[in-house]
Parts: sequence; C-alpha cells; structure tokens
Amino acid sequence: MSYETVIGIEVHVQLSTRSKMFCGCRADVFGAAPNTLVCPVCLGLPGALPRINRQALRYGTMVALALNCRIAPYTRFYRKNYHYPDLVKGYQITMYDEPLGQHGFVDLDLGGLPRRICIERVHLEEDTGKSMHAPGRTLLDFNRSGVPLVEIVTAPDFRSLEEVQAYAQELQQLVRYLQVSSGDMEKGALRFEINVSLRPAGSDELGVKVELKNLNSLRALQRALQYEIARQQSALEAGQPLRQETCGWDEEREETFVQRSKEASSDYRYFPDPDLPPLRPAPEWVAELWAALPELPWQRRARFVAEYDLRPYDAALLTEDRAVADYFEKAAALAADPQMPGPISPQTLAHWITGELFCLLKESGQDIAQTPLRPALLVELVALVQRGAINASVAKELLPEILERGGSPRRLVQERGLARISSREQLASLVAQALAAHPQVVDEYLGAKEAALQFLIGQVMQASRGRADPHLLHELLRDQLETLRQVRSRSRPVQDGHR
Ligand code: ZN
Ligand code: MN
Repeated sequence: MSYETVIGIEVHVQLSTRSKMFCGCRADVFGAAPNTLVCPVCLGLPGALPRINRQALRYGTMVALALNCRIAPYTRFYRKNYHYPDLVKGYQITMYDEPLGQHGFVDLDLGGLPRRICIERVHLEEDTGKSMHAPGRTLLDFNRSGVPLVEIVTAPDFRSLEEVQAYAQELQQLVRYLQVSSGDMEKGALRFEINVSLRPAGSDELGVKVELKNLNSLRALQRALQYEIARQQSALEAGQPLRQETCGWDEEREETFVQRSKEASSDYRYFPDPDLPPLRPAPEWVAELWAALPELPWQRRARFVAEYDLRPYDAALLTEDRAVADYFEKAAALAADPQMPGPISPQTLAHWITGELFCLLKESGQDIAQTPLRPALLVELVALVQRGAINASVAKELLPEILERGGSPRRLVQERGLARISSREQLASLVAQALAAHPQVVDEYLGAKEAALQFLIGQVMQASRGRADPHLLHELLRDQLETLRQVRSRSRPVQDGHR
C-alpha cells in the first residue's frame, strides 16, 4: 500500500527585542552567566506585575502581516497552566483563542511549481527558562524566561520533505528580512515542531500524529523527518499501532526518541491573564506597519528574475541574505552606468558573486557588508575581464587580496604588470620556447594525442603568469604544431630512402 505524508508545522521565533516580553530584563544577550538576566516578573515572584513589550507587539504584527494574516481587532493574553521545572510561575503567558493574526498563507516555490501553505495563526507568548541536565542533577537558567516569542502555526498542508524544507528556509529568510529575529536555529532563535502522520493514499482521515521537537538545524529537521516517516511507514506496514507522542531528535544516533505522550489542550485550563489588558490594535497602526514592511524575500526573488533577467536559481541564491541582495543590486546599478566601458550583464555579476565571492567569503568568514571589496571594486575587476584587459584567472587571483585589503583592481594590474598579452610576436615566442622545452610532449601531440595540447597551453600560461590571451595562444600553438607536423612528414620519406 502507498501512504501519503501529512505534515503541519509550529514555529517559535525568538524576537530580537532589547527587553523581555513582560519586564525590562535584557532579551538580546546570548550566553550571559546563568540567572543574571532576571527580575521578580520573569521569575514569577508573587505580586510582580507584567507589562506588555510594545516592540514585541510590533514585531509579531509585522510577521503576521507578512504572512498575509488577518489582524485581530481584539486580542488578549491568557495563562496556560502547566507544571514544568523551567516554568517557575506554573503557567506561560500566551495568546489563545484570539491570536494576533489568523487565516494567512505563504506561497512556496518548488522549482517553478507554486504551493500555497495556509497559516492558521500567529500569536505572541513568552519563552520558558532552560533546564540543563548534568549527571545526577538538573540545573535551571531563567535568563530565557520571558523572552518574547512569536508562534506561527500552519494547517496540515505539507505533503513532502521538500515542501517542509522550502517553508523552513522561507521563514528563516522572512524573519531576517524583517529584522525581527536572528533566525539562528543553532541558538534556538527559530524552533520547529513538526507534526507528522501517514495515511493510506487517497484517504481523507488523518492518521495518528507524532510531534518532532529539538530540531536545531535545517539538516536535523530534514534527517529527523526522513527517519520519522520511514519509522511510521514500517510500523503501519507491520500492522503495529502508532501512539500520539512527542519525540526529540538524537543528533548523534540519528533517530527520534519519545519524550512524552501528548496532553490534551483542556489540560492547560487557559484563562485570561487578569494582570494584562486586552489589546485592540488600531487599524491606522496596523496600516502603518503594513506600509513599512520591507520587500519580502519572495518578492525580491521574483523581482530579481523580472528586473535583471536572472535565472531563478541565481535569484534565489542572491536573495537568501538581504546583505548579499543589497550588494548585488549596488553592483548591478554601477555596472549599468553608461559611463562604464563595456556593459556587464547582471547575470555575469551574479556568476561572480555566487561563485568566486561566496567561496572566498565562506573561507574567510567575512561578512559581505563589511568586506573592503566594495561593489564598485568588483565591478571594476569584472569590467577588466569583460574588456579583455586581463584574463579571468588573473582576476580570480587578485580577488582574495582585494577582499582582504581593498585597492583598485586597475591599479593593481598596472603595478604588477598583469595585463593580458595579446601581442602576436610576444606570444609566438613564448609558444616556441614551450615547444622547444618539451619535445616529447610535441611528439605525443603529433602522434594524435590531443591531451598533450592542454599540457602545452598550461606551460605557456605559466610562463606568461596567466596573462596570455587564451584564444590567440590556442591559435598560435596549433599553427606552430601544424608547421612541425608538415616539416616532419616531408622529411620522413627521405630517411626511409636511406635505409
Ligand atoms: Zn525580568
Ligand atoms: Mn508555544
């Protein structure tokens, strides 16, 4: 029997506000000494009064708007009661039946095929503390207690791993574009919980779902989901019943493990928090936030294809990071300047940025926005290649240096004499020298071994320090080798005659 996978996703996004959700404690410090960023409010001491963080409300609403949600005219915070060591108050303050936003959607692009995912709700809540398990004891750190979270819940609309992966990336990009969160999964700023169940293909009923947690990278998310789908499938095939439970992902052993069986929502006994006022977001305030939204990742991607005529693949690479996209756009604007000698196409720039530059940035760990290789310098360098003033290999050699220290490519080429050699005489003599130095390779070539040609090209390139005009070099090399062939074929019968 074949099965259909049904997946719904809940994401908790840690908002990068300066202070916590309901008190003035710092929320933007990662890795502070345990229990140093706390106060009576986030420790839940009796009598402490929470106050709503306006910035968190703004950030949450921005996320809801970007996800095409309807913003609630009326919303409020509830107490969700449960007992857990990292929840000192005995309840979490969260939104319940009147969330900030509802009925939204996000359109995924799966290799050109659009796929709409419904967003059921977007709401605000506070984070819990952290338990740290050591042998024989558990330690508690409440620095994270009360950090603002926005929770995003989708309908069970996903049918494949690819869709989940695309959504996760989209959401990470979104919160980074909106600058409401670092989006770092490794630091827990973006936490995915995935509900996954299988059902016989064609069935409308939902199967027993398992909730996956502790996924702290996109890779872990993918591996855990692969594992869980396979596990459920073999259980169903073997006729074993599945249980509704919450599982963690063991990165080391690469398998899911049961954390607890799931409580029903009535167990939480939600009730409105009497310390916090209900909220009525003013329509003007919402409209202002809507108007101030930056261009969203998917919008920018589409524009890059339409405006710069980029391949969708390159547009996706360039827009993944807002700073990279900005860099590209600055470079493209400079390259389009009619003052520029020789036009550079956006696709050519994209090629340099996603190829050489990405590679070097990754190696050096530099941030594209900080590198001395400003867009103007990259354009200058690519223009030199485009005009045939230098070879691409020379440009690639200069790139790491300019990335590190800056400096005009044109001046560097002049100072070091790296301009392309296009003089026929100069190149012909380099070719002749190479042929004279490697008579055996010449024999091989004349014996119909084409590969020998590459070696000779390499020799001349090396002798010219990468400056030889590649087309001219090829032409001259063929010419001189042809001449040699003719000379030899004419001399051979004479030798035969002597025997
Ligand atoms: Zn506090
Ligand atoms: Mn939650």
